[in-house]
Amino acid sequence: MEISEDMIVYKNKLDKKPTLRITKDYSMAESYESIITMGMHTGTHIDAPLHMIEGGKTIDSIALENLIRKCKVLDFTEVENKITKEILERKEIQKGDFILLKTKNSFSKEFDFQFIYLEKSGAEYLKNIGIAGVGIDALGIERDQPGHETHKILLSQDIIIIEGLKLNEVEEGEYTLYAPPLKIRNVEAAPVRVILVD
Ligand SMILES: [Zn+2]
Repeated sequence: MEISEDMIVYKNKLDKKPTLRITKDYSMAESYESIITMGMHTGTHIDAPLHMIEGGKTIDSIALENLIRKCKVLDFTEVENKITKEILERKEIQKGDFILLKTKNSFSKEFDFQFIYLEKSGAEYLKNIGIAGVGIDALGIERDQPGHETHKILLSQDIIIIEGLKLNEVEEGEYTLYAPPLKIRNVEAAPVRVILVD
């Protein structure tokens, strides 16, 4: 996702919008500098275990070979509401896979309160397979699950979560994933620019 002050943020909450301030420009100085203030869960970002697990791993401790590697984009654009175990079973998912879930979220132009999410039965299924990571084209990997089971099931197994992907122009298939987050010490999440190479 492109980061800007008018970008889409979770549930359209104003306090989640980034603010960008120009501290120096050519009208007053000989250089240009700016400061951005934003949450770690703004736009495309990675959730580390600490996000939902007390004492869990932080962003800076995730080894880069887990984020620069092969991945599989799975097309679930026909799915309405949520991705369950039954829906995931239609695809071939193996131990160690890093999967990216492409849904109709990738085509929405504004925040969709009914965004497609990974339901807890799906998270449990992926945990049992032993995947390495999962990404989704929504700003949250779950909604309407008060216990945050999807996050907890995945993050308790150190399964990496990427949120806020934009996959409308990406077809189902295998790619090389480049997703190293900013190296910010001791935090639960960080922005990332995700690139898929054919
Ligand atoms: Zn997040």
